[in-house]
Amino acid sequence: ALTVGVLALQGGVIEHLSLLRKAADYLTSTGATQLKSNDFEFIEVRTKEQLSRCDALIIPGGESTTMGIVAARLGLLEPLRQFVKVENKPVWGTCAGLVMLAETASATKQGGQELVGGLDVRVLRNRFGTQIDSFVADLKLPFLGEEETPFRGVFIRAPVVEEIMASQEAAEGVKSKSEDPVEVLATVPAGKAEKAAASEDIVAVRQRNVFGTSFHPELTQDIRIHVWWLKQVLNAGRHQDLVSR
Ligand code: GLN
Repeated sequence: ALTVGVLALQGGVIEHLSLLRKAADYLTSTGATQLKSNDFEFIEVRTKEQLSRCDALIIPGGESTTMGIVAARLGLLEPLRQFVKVENKPVWGTCAGLVMLAETASATKQGGQELVGGLDVRVLRNRFGTQIDSFVADLKLPFLGEEETPFRGVFIRAPVVEEIMASQEAAEGVKSKSEDPVEVLATVPAGKAEKAAASEDIVAVRQRNVFGTSFHPELTQDIRIHVWWLKQVLNAGRHQDLVSR
């Protein structure tokens, strides 16, 4: 069986669980995996015991400062860091989840906020403005394959990846991490150019086991990214033999 958790401290939990189920049904019905639909288990994660059952984890959208505070209070920050950076299990963060998975975030209040880390990036929170500046943009996501159909990217107080950092380990001359650079998977044209350094804003990245999107695929009915990510999960580690070629 494969157990995938959604961190359920706050934010868009149900939506991810529902799309994960649809994605799993799609994978089983198309014969992309030898697992049966029942072999996929999707659980809400609020304790470290629940986390330890997971083969992979989604950190949903919501509000990252709040999520950090609640995670700290529940003693989940260290187990989460362990999960992402030591056990190297597949993790996907959407929006606030992407913020949580960044090593650094700018535009945070004095005193900062607790992050899980894992992606050697600095994110800029609320890049496009406040709630009323939310928007939908058609995205080209080449990592999904040859498909022409653009993906409806839902951006709600979304962060962007503002800078890809040389990893600490790379700086120290340790090889492992520097061999897994941050890959930019999607961008949008930069909006009002108040931060005019770049003409594009980075809205999806991957580094090793960690995947992050600024937008909310779980707020659409489009299962493609959930399908793609579940395939990555199946390809990682002990489930490799369950993927049909
Ligand atoms: N602006 C929020 C944050 O920084 C993220 C918003 C969202 O997840 N939709 O945490």
